[in-house]
Amino acid sequence: MALLAETAAPRLATYSKNHCPQCGEWLLAPDWSEYFNERCVRHTWSCQSCRYEFETAVFFTPREEIAA
Ligand SMILES: [Zn+2]
Repeated sequence: MALLAETAAPRLATYSKNHCPQCGEWLLAPDWSEYFNERCVRHTWSCQSCRYEFETAVFFTPREEIAA
């Protein structure tokens, strides 16, 4: 499954907007990533500036569309 994540990484929308919704501080990486299935990963973030915590979900494009 690591290969799938690497293949899909440039297609992620989440990482272009990983700023704190509360204060706008840039967030380097999620505190926790929860793997739901091969198409969905949920990230939990916390801001070091204002301690705001929130979650984002990443949905991967089905691999069949890439391979075809
Ligand atoms: Zn913040």
